[in-house]
Amino acid sequence: MNGLRVGIIGAGRSGVAAAKFLRRLGVRVLLSDRQRITASLPSSIQTESGPHSDRLLDCDLIIRSPGVPNHLPIMKKIALRRIRVWSELELASRFARAEHLVAITGTNGKTTTTTLVGEFFKTLRRPLFVAGNIGMPLSEVALKTTPRSTIVLEVSSYQLENIESFHPTLSAILNITPDHLEHHGSMKAYASAKGRIFENQTKDDVCVLNADDPWCRRLARRCPARVCWFSRRQKVRKGVYYDGHGNIVLRWGNYRSRFALRTHLPGPHNIENILAAVALALAGGVSLSAIRRVLARFHGVEHRLELVRILHGVRYVNDSKATNVDSTRVALASFADPLIVILGGEGKGAPYSPLKSLIRKRAKRLLVIGEDTPAIVRELKGIVPLEKVGHLAKAVQHASRVAEHGDVVLLSPACASFDQYNNYEERGRHFKRLVKKLA
Ligand code: ADP
Repeated sequence: MNGLRVGIIGAGRSGVAAAKFLRRLGVRVLLSDRQRITASLPSSIQTESGPHSDRLLDCDLIIRSPGVPNHLPIMKKIALRRIRVWSELELASRFARAEHLVAITGTNGKTTTTTLVGEFFKTLRRPLFVAGNIGMPLSEVALKTTPRSTIVLEVSSYQLENIESFHPTLSAILNITPDHLEHHGSMKAYASAKGRIFENQTKDDVCVLNADDPWCRRLARRCPARVCWFSRRQKVRKGVYYDGHGNIVLRWGNYRSRFALRTHLPGPHNIENILAAVALALAGGVSLSAIRRVLARFHGVEHRLELVRILHGVRYVNDSKATNVDSTRVALASFADPLIVILGGEGKGAPYSPLKSLIRKRAKRLLVIGEDTPAIVRELKGIVPLEKVGHLAKAVQHASRVAEHGDVVLLSPACASFDQYNNYEERGRHFKRLVKKLA
């Protein structure tokens, strides 16, 4: 990188991490963002805020942050000049060393699976780095890695769009369902971006794919790595599957066995996340006994169907991460006990009607909060009792009064939080505080 000048577009967490990383390598950096850059940066990093200037065109390399659209005039000019464009992932992975580089992508379940895989690999007692989209950009840790390290990365389709040499030894695609289509243009383009996770793998590497997902099956045809399938619904010849009766069956390498799944994670979707994580762990040499031990004590990730408290036989569950209708649908399908559902917030314009049949089957009451209350009431009234309660404090109070032994009080908003909170984490923490205060 010596003597290079690098432009970074987007000063979010990964852009800032890339800037600091490059400075440490002695590279000249220009960090450019439409908005005011608030991060504290060494003065040796040049910055510009507002319209991206043509100074970026004097750079030898561009690092593009996730979500920066291709149709921006500056991106078009960069393409015309044939300046190389990398993601922060491509940049940082060139400096990362590892025995196992594990990369996990998918539309849903990335954070849960990445966290669980991290727990599995922790049992190998080697230096472990869990990074990527999960909050810690790879650039923040790349220089600390050694050839004995394990790196477990949560990877988004945005990061994969601008890779060249990124080469995980173990990769996984959990599922591919419609998302970010405004950015990628079509399902095919979105799936192709996800498929790039394995483009530099060889037959010495392993790629874990979901046998129940049509897009994963299609991508498998051009996967150069050995494919380890996982499935919740069907038997697979090479890989791991759920037998429908509480067991995980292993058909991989020397493993020809089954074990009873003991987990605190609710819901069929989490069985899929567990299967993928188990497959990656087996392929990475984690022992079956370690896998079972970790599974029995893993409680999932904050704000994702997180059990907060059991009070008078009522379970309170925080699913504040459910910021869209599909996540709430998944949450409703995860419980057999009667649900009192708290939903609402800043709507995303998608219909709530896909929730109707599950509400009929699983819920006994809906408590609606936030800005999108009128739309939710319009679309979901008349199925089960529905009350407009305005905000979370009132919702929790009300739920605790009407809940009976065996019920589940579920915050799964199906909406963003920005009408009342800074982010879904703040909303989830508020819910937890309110629940913990209940007498
Ligand atoms: P991501 O990091 O991909 O957003 P998370 O693990 O944070 O995934 O889960 C976010 C939400 O996605 C969960 O609350 C749940 O509603 C849904 N989800 C998780 N795993 C799956 C899955 N395997 N299939 C479908 N939906 C899932």
